[in-house]
Amino acid sequence: MNSQRIPLIAGNWKMHKTIAEAEAYIQALLPKVSSCEGVEVAICAPFTALQALVDSTRGSRVEIFAQTMHAGDSGPFTGEISAPMLSEIDVFGVVLGHSERREFYGESDHALRAKVPAALAAGLMPILCIGETEAEHGDGDTQRKLRHQIQEGLGDVADEQLGDVVIAYEPIWAIGTGKVATPDQAQDICGFVRALVADRDPQQAERTRVLYGGSVKPDNAVALMSLPDVDGALVGGASLEADTLAAIIDAAGAG
Ligand code: PEP
Repeated sequence: MNSQRIPLIAGNWKMHKTIAEAEAYIQALLPKVSSCEGVEVAICAPFTALQALVDSTRGSRVEIFAQTMHAGDSGPFTGEISAPMLSEIDVFGVVLGHSERREFYGESDHALRAKVPAALAAGLMPILCIGETEAEHGDGDTQRKLRHQIQEGLGDVADEQLGDVVIAYEPIWAIGTGKVATPDQAQDICGFVRALVADRDPQQAERTRVLYGGSVKPDNAVALMSLPDVDGALVGGASLEADTLAAIIDAAGAG
């Protein structure tokens, strides 16, 4: 964590929670986060719960994010949602390129190259997810994979907007597995990611928030959140309970 960058803890609910469950969760979370100065909190919710969550978090420190979007503003794309549709209801940002979208729905680096600037153009904060598989990790192929994902995902973002994109490094072997990167691994790779942004623009790289994601829990969060190049976390399973997410937010405040 670096004092120039405000840490961000983003809970990714995936395909969990009806509107009623989402509302109950937020009512439990809000009192727990009202005093955690200096940490930004995001909830990445299913489309159906976004409007209710935007309304019930207005004026609080909790920002509401979507979990995906289409690159175009409108068109014949059945089932898709566009960036202007999200910003119309005051959604704050959007997760792009989560490994589950890449694996199960064929989201490509090419598509992300269009989605990241489309989110920015609509005033949404993109969280661009990148990460290597277990096999790539074992083969020493992590840096090559991440370099490609960053070059593509940020390829059409103007230099002066690079710092507005949040990058989540999520090793795929750590997502939902209980295996977590060691602090040394997380620092190494998050530092490498920042260096890739610095190749484009060193000043913007200092603004860019790089999150770690993959089996973050309250008991490993303190060590991860105190690393110099880790500016927060993208949290899946542990974000489903308000108490657990609040404990991770406290760890980020302490880091
Ligand atoms: C995720 O889905 O982005 C994630 C990091 O999940 P988990 O925290 O459950 O590993």
